[in-house]
Amino acid sequence: MSKEPCLICGKPVEYEPEYCCPGIDCTCYGQPVNPCICSEECEGAVFDYIGLDFEDRLIKAGIEKYSEPGDEFEQRMKAAEDFMDSLR
Ligand SMILES: [Zn+2]
Ligand SMILES: [Zn+2]
Repeated sequence: MSKEPCLICGKPVEYEPEYCCPGIDCTCYGQPVNPCICSEECEGAVFDYIGLDFEDRLIKAGIEKYSEPGDEFEQRMKAAEDFMDSLR
């Protein structure tokens, strides 16, 4: 188990990614089958607002972004945003 930021709000959550397969010729695209999400609210934001910008999803879902200083965290958030974009 390691702490990873929630894909939506960035709050650290205990997360162990589970993969379906390497993503070749599969609809999973090699992404974890259990997205790193901290709560039902955030999970809703992932699936309810597909097609909107990342920031718009947070606003629509009424979720405040968890903030924490640090370059590493920023990079992880960037990776999370890339993941969200891949869901469009
Ligand atoms: Zn969250
Ligand atoms: Zn797969």
